[in-house]
Amino acid sequence: MRHSNESLDRSELRDLQGERLRETVEHVYENVPFYRDKLDELGTSPEDIESIDDIGKLPMTTKEDFRDEYPDGLFAVDNEEIARLHASSGTTGKPKIVAYTQNDLDMWGKSMARSLDAAGVEPSDTVQNAYGYGLFTGGLGFHQGAEELGTTVIPTSSGNTQRQVELANDLGSDVLACTPSYALYFAETAEEMGYDPRELPISVIAYGAETCTEPMREEIEETLDATGINNYGLSEVIGPGVAAECHEAQDGLHIWEDNFYPEVIDPRTGEPVEEGEEGELVLTSLTKEALPVLRYRTGDLTTLNYDKCECGRTMVRMDNVTGRSDDLLVVRGVNLYPSEIEHVVLDIDGVAPHYRIDLYKEGNLDVMELTIERDEGIERGESELQDEILTRLQNVLSFTPNELELVQPGGIERTEVGKVQRVYDHRG
Ligand code: ZN
Repeated sequence: MRHSNESLDRSELRDLQGERLRETVEHVYENVPFYRDKLDELGTSPEDIESIDDIGKLPMTTKEDFRDEYPDGLFAVDNEEIARLHASSGTTGKPKIVAYTQNDLDMWGKSMARSLDAAGVEPSDTVQNAYGYGLFTGGLGFHQGAEELGTTVIPTSSGNTQRQVELANDLGSDVLACTPSYALYFAETAEEMGYDPRELPISVIAYGAETCTEPMREEIEETLDATGINNYGLSEVIGPGVAAECHEAQDGLHIWEDNFYPEVIDPRTGEPVEEGEEGELVLTSLTKEALPVLRYRTGDLTTLNYDKCECGRTMVRMDNVTGRSDDLLVVRGVNLYPSEIEHVVLDIDGVAPHYRIDLYKEGNLDVMELTIERDEGIERGESELQDEILTRLQNVLSFTPNELELVQPGGIERTEVGKVQRVYDHRG
């Protein structure tokens, strides 16, 4: 099943990327006034793109560009060639509208099928897809990939969790595709219904759409006795199916580089960082027709690893995303990501993988309230647990919340549909 491009020699891959980049630049120069103007401003013409090394001559694209060009200013084909539209989940303002030709949908399905194949999913498997179907690209993206791979798909969509548990049990779902927080909610619901989550037939959890730290992965794997595989993608670039972990290594997500070319830049200067350094992921689509993107600034922080992987794939691996630059919290002058807090806290015995962060303003001062749920069945004194959490946060992050509250198991509200919300910023 593995596509030959997945283990291409790196120099052959770069040749292919160079050819595809040139075609993409010709296509947008011809068909997207927004890009033609930007390229003209930079004095770059399509003929200047001779290899992938010329990517630095191209303009970047930002979220704001999507907003400014709403709804279809970035589209590169006529309406009759567009087969489908999706929209990204914007929390504020207009959503970003994304378009696909039939060829784009085919490429998307194939990329997503590669991701599932890398996860160890077999054509004989049954995939229960608990991502939301609709404008959000998660549901249909996973659906197409699972069909392309030849699996049996159960399109449950999100929500209705008791029925999901029953179906997984009765129909023998081998794979559950969902957000990491939903995987835990699913397991809890199963337990309340009298099932042992570890006895359910699910052996792979293909998760994505939220950041997921290693301790969170361990929790999911332990709770459901399954392999947790991280998936990455975003609507502006295609949807899920940009990158996925391989089950052999579970150590970084292979980016399907023949379709999506990655760079990592310093978010402040826009300059590329040294290989192996952390920065903002920038992606260029190499094969898209309806909505090609040049150097799209994802806002996601990661590092790239070009070392050979034990699975045999030569495609570069990106690290787990530490956070979106949008998620960065500035509290009392300290920069931190919710995922950093998660990483520290979930490693502690007696802590359940559920927490929330509330931020308030008292006068001019930032106040952080951290609420953490206790793990069922682990007996630890309240003050002992509190002390350990505060000490670890202080040692690792040099930061402690103003208030730390421990709540009983189930004390933090669960998210059944959509992405989990863990940060509530009341500072206005
Ligand atoms: Zn690998």
